[in-house]
Parts: sequence; structure tokens; C-alpha cells
Amino acid sequence: MRKLNFAAGPSVMPIEVLEELQANLVDYHGKGLSMLEASHRGGMFEEMYDECLATFRSLLSIPDDYDVYFLGGGATLQFTMIPANFLLKGTHADYTRTGSWSNKASDDAAKLGDVNIVFDGKDSGYTTLPDPSVIKPSEGSSYFYLCSNETIGGIEWQDFPDTGDVPLIADMSSDMLSRPVDVSKFAMIYGGVQKNLGPAGATFIIMRHDMLEKRNPELTAYMDYAKHAKDKGLYNTPPVFSVWAVGLVLKWIQNNGGVEGMLHNATMKSGYIYDVIDSSDGFYRSPVDSRYRSRMNVVFRCPNEELEAKFIKEAQNEGMIGLKGHRSVGGLRASLYNALPMEDAASLAVFMKEFERKNG
Ligand SMILES: *Cc1c(COP(=O)(O)O)cnc(C)c1O
Repeated sequence: MRKLNFAAGPSVMPIEVLEELQANLVDYHGKGLSMLEASHRGGMFEEMYDECLATFRSLLSIPDDYDVYFLGGGATLQFTMIPANFLLKGTHADYTRTGSWSNKASDDAAKLGDVNIVFDGKDSGYTTLPDPSVIKPSEGSSYFYLCSNETIGGIEWQDFPDTGDVPLIADMSSDMLSRPVDVSKFAMIYGGVQKNLGPAGATFIIMRHDMLEKRNPELTAYMDYAKHAKDKGLYNTPPVFSVWAVGLVLKWIQNNGGVEGMLHNATMKSGYIYDVIDSSDGFYRSPVDSRYRSRMNVVFRCPNEELEAKFIKEAQNEGMIGLKGHRSVGGLRASLYNALPMEDAASLAVFMKEFERKNG
């Protein structure tokens, strides 16, 4: 039996995509060659890659003046590349600190330049976000940085601030393509693919082309976004397997209602779990400000840690895995990415009610 996989990342992939990868792994569509053996400078790879990028553009209606490509190094490398390119000497950048991932990005940036913290959720234990209609960039800021969905804390920006002329940069690793996004509001959107888009290895980069004029031109080759933009990410060898799989996931999203369909599903799935939490008379608790609850990562607690351990164990017996909260925060977390079937979320909700009945 296939597990019900609630892991935060690497995470569940569409079974159709795994089967297609398997069917074409050894011999790619009758070409007598595996995609894993093909040159990234050859036609077989290029055709696949171009189609992947075109599907990406189409799913989010990415405007023509944006470059779209994939890099290696994970989302984490971007914590360095962004300030290396855009946080120039004598300037500063605005960072929102809303949880583990934006804090890491902000800490890395502060090693390279002048960081201005416009919001720090520390006092709330990173359970709330600033009001996007109120928070503003500071005067003369090089860019404004946020993480759209804090995968560990389970908080998600529902709307984004209007930063005017200040470029808005977002880490969307864990909610990319789970909802429509107006790309034109952002100067850059990036993320690791292993949460919502495929197997680990690739990092997607969507960047408005004119950002390259603002960059530090003195960087070494790999650090320089202009090098990657020029070759659509093929300056060096891309993570071929990951990109191939992502292309298939993107097609799968397209065939399953696009980002509107993904939003509908995410709202339903997270609704099942939040409804159980809210109707449990306090047996389950969500620490997160209800205005900013994540549809992707539902974080919750039981009355005590013994019950949480029991929850994880009994869920495992039912084939449900990945429900342990991140080691830095404890508790429980159900990740409900695009590829998680609706019925798996429904099964978890039933299990939670039953667990509450027996232990409440
Ligand atoms: C997982 C994650 C990262 C780190 O991704 P890597 O690809 O492992 O570097 C960064 N940001 C967010 C929001 C994440 O969920």
C-alpha cells in the first residue's frame, strides 16, 4: 500500500508522474537513451527543458520580461546569491523575519551587507505576520524580502505588500503553484522544488530582467544571475533529473485545473484539518494566528507531548507518515502539498477525530 505522505519535504509526488518517470527512465520515449544519459546541450534535453519552462510560464502567466530557469544549490544558496547580487555597498535591504526560513535568509544577508528588519515575529513565537496593507519598505531600500509560506511555523502570507519601486523578492519554496500569484508584483520569486514541485535538486528562479542592471557585476560566475539568465540556467550542468520530473509535475498541475484547481484543493484539504482542530474543544491547538494559517503546512498540538508521540505512532500504523513537527518547534505538522490526494487529507481528519475521541 502507498503511504499517506504528510512530509514537509522532500514530499509526496503525483503517482502518475512517478509512473511516467519509471516508464521512460531507461529509454526516453523510444529514443534509445535515458534522459539521465543525455547531454544538457543536446536536442533531447533542450526539448524537454523548453517545454518545462513554457509550462511554468503558462501556469502563472509569467510576463515576457521575466527570466525563468532552474539552478542547483537549493533555496538555501539563494539566501547568499540574493544579497551578493543586490545588497550593494552603501545600500540596505528590508527583511521580514517571520520564521525559520526568512530568518536564515536574513541572517545570511546580514553577513554580506546592511539589513533592515521591517518585521520580526519573535515576540509572538513567529505565529503571526505583519498586515500586508500596512507594512512598507524603508526609504532607499535595495529590495524587500519575504517568505510566502513558513514551512516550519505553518504561516502563509495571504496577500502581499505593495512595495512600490522597491523590488519585492519572495521565497515561495513551499507554496509555489498552490494558488494564483500576480508575478508582476514581484521582482523575483524563487524556491526549492522538493516541497511542492518535484524531487530535490532544482531551484526555480523567476526574475524580472531589469533586475540584472542593479546587480553587483563583480561576482564570480556561478553567483552572477546575469550568467544564468543569459543561458536560461544552462551556464553549467543543471540538475537534469529534477528538472525532468518538475516538467511532468507542471503538466500534471495543468491537467488538474491549474493553479486555480490547486488552490481549490488546498483550501478543501487544509479545511478538513483546521475544522477538526477548531471543533475539538481545545484537544488540538493551532498556535498560528488564524488570519495567516498555511494551507500547505498545518501545524498543531495535542494536550501534551506524550499524546503527540502516541499520535505519530498510531498514525504510522495507519500508513500516515511525516506528521512529526520540525525538530526546532516540536508538535505535529501535516503538509498538504498539491500532490497529496484529497482522500488522504480526509483520512487524516477522520483519524484525528477518532484519536481525540479515544484520548480526549
Ligand atoms: C525547505 C525550504 C528552504 C530550504 O530549501 P533547500 O532547497 O533545502 O535549500 C527554504 N525556504 C523554504 C520556505 C523552505 O520550505
